[in-house]
Amino acid sequence: MTEIPDDVRETVEEEMGDEGLTILEHLADLGPTTDTVLAEELDTKTSTIRRNLYQLYEERIADYRENRDEEKGWLTFVWSYTPGEAQRELEEAREAAAEEIREEIERVKESELFVCPDEHVRLEFAEAMDLEFHCPRCGVSVEREDTSERLADLREQLEAMEQGTA
Ligand SMILES: [Zn+2]
Repeated sequence: MTEIPDDVRETVEEEMGDEGLTILEHLADLGPTTDTVLAEELDTKTSTIRRNLYQLYEERIADYRENRDEEKGWLTFVWSYTPGEAQRELEEAREAAAEEIREEIERVKESELFVCPDEHVRLEFAEAMDLEFHCPRCGVSVEREDTSERLADLREQLEAMEQGTA
């Protein structure tokens, strides 16, 4: 029994449903193998198996090589589960998402926005200065926006991501 990591399972289930997951499980157990063998094993149409295999391929969870029968000249595709690549892709995607959050945190930290207490406007520092720090709608003094909640929220997201729970 080849272990399929939980995050790979989740991705496949989300993108392809139970059918995709069942096919992946069998591929992991039987592979390297062909669509015909999988179709027999699962009592499913070869076309269904093939469609799912290509989707797994696009998700970088499965890969194939072409095998030519020298005598008959037939070409068969031999499929295998490629856990390393799937795992790497997921880690890269997670790292990219974490990097985006880190950048967003920096942007929020650096941003100096001024808001009307009645939420009429959000102004950049220069705009607020032009308006002498008054709301153009109601004339009340604008205040430096409190970003602590937004920052706490972003940091929480980042932490969850770094622990691999997101
Ligand atoms: Zn206002």
